[in-house]
Amino acid sequence: MKNKLFRMIPKIDEILNDARVIKYLEEYPRVYLINASNEKLNSIRNQIRSLDDSNILKFKVDFDEIVNEVVKNATLKSQTKLRRVINATGVVIHTNMGRSLLSEKALSNALKLASNYNNLELNLETGKRGSRYDHLEELITMITGAEACHIVNNNAAAVMLVLASMASGKEVIVSRSELVEIGGSFRVPDIMKLSSCNLVEVGCTNKTHLLDYQNAISEETAMILKVHTSNYKIMGFTESQSVGDLAILAKAENIPLVEDIGSGSLIDLSKFGIAGEPTVMDSLQAGADVVTFSGDKLLGGPQCGIIVGKKEYIDKMKKHQLTRAFRVDKVILSLLETTLREYLDEEKLLKNNPTLSMITADKVALLNKTKAFKNVLDEINGLNTEIVEAVSEVGGGSLPLTELYGFNLVVSVDGISNEKLKTALREYRIPIIARINDDKLLFDVRTLKVEEFDIIKTALKEIIA
Ligand SMILES: *Cc1c(COP(=O)(O)O)cnc(C)c1O
Repeated sequence: MKNKLFRMIPKIDEILNDARVIKYLEEYPRVYLINASNEKLNSIRNQIRSLDDSNILKFKVDFDEIVNEVVKNATLKSQTKLRRVINATGVVIHTNMGRSLLSEKALSNALKLASNYNNLELNLETGKRGSRYDHLEELITMITGAEACHIVNNNAAAVMLVLASMASGKEVIVSRSELVEIGGSFRVPDIMKLSSCNLVEVGCTNKTHLLDYQNAISEETAMILKVHTSNYKIMGFTESQSVGDLAILAKAENIPLVEDIGSGSLIDLSKFGIAGEPTVMDSLQAGADVVTFSGDKLLGGPQCGIIVGKKEYIDKMKKHQLTRAFRVDKVILSLLETTLREYLDEEKLLKNNPTLSMITADKVALLNKTKAFKNVLDEINGLNTEIVEAVSEVGGGSLPLTELYGFNLVVSVDGISNEKLKTALREYRIPIIARINDDKLLFDVRTLKVEEFDIIKTALKEIIA
């Protein structure tokens, strides 16, 4: 009986000659189809092997079902693994979903640059070899007021290069309240060790006095490092030293003061009700000699680490061995240049920079957008929606206490649990990531594009059907 079933399993060639498969092969490579076929046929063989008398008579080898599934799985295999998703969480700088979105203009400039040869390391005035770092130096120093700048792959690399080039084999003083861990793999004490620096911890978790720093200074001290506590706040009975106070001490002792500012905001966000995030300019003006920050957090650009400050230190970094290992690509430099040029006109910046535009979106606009989204989803039968006030976060380990006020659309479907709905949305062709809070499935339009409303509608319709 089983042998009869085994003989009914189609040969791969039969599958390959089916019209549905031939259509698939016009567009996609054969390898995905062969792999999907082998997987399907193996699974049928295993199923037959495990049949017993109770179910063997009911088992059918259905050629149409096999071909349909093979084509479906081959289509899934032919999709890129790294895919677009729809972020309905309202968390703007979402580390799991790629942090900052880039502006159209930045992307179109980068496309033009990367699909053509370019002057990445060619000095067009002299015709000789140039430096990839020169192109952005004027722009960054103009925006930040710094003497010089350098760019590496991310802020973790920036901190490491700063430590390795300025303090290798020597002591670095850090407050115990600032021994930060960022996202698991970046820990200040570990980065110190990797850079061959000796960490000198001062103060306590809640309080570090200026005298603590002063008492720790010796001939071995190479630097005072201040780390912005981007992703947490210590509250209550606390004391920490401002960059300004530390700068006075550092200058008197002739020791450089470095601040890892983390997010690296280049505009004052307090006028949008977002307080507590120092700007790069604040830090430099308060007297930091070197400041490091990320390109893809509040700056709203590509992943990179930017180092600004005194030329004597930056020059040393540019000559350091690690600079080659941390070197940024032309695409990143192009994306960063366009993103930063948009900073020269703040009004347009808030419209063009997706990260800043989403963070600073006002409540009235968000309410209208939520209503428009509700109208789109209300066309679906069997779906219930309700608009509620909501707070969201900036994300990306930035501004942990800042609450962004907006709205959520609560969505429910009779007969389907919210968990099931959430999973089905995540498994949709274009994955849609929504949140569940208090047993409610929530969509936050802050991070949605208007053109995504219809995609979500189609997805929900398909899931309900
Ligand atoms: C985010 C952050 C980092 C790490 O920056 P990446 O660009 O993610 O490498 C380092 N220090 C601080 C204070 C941060 O907030």
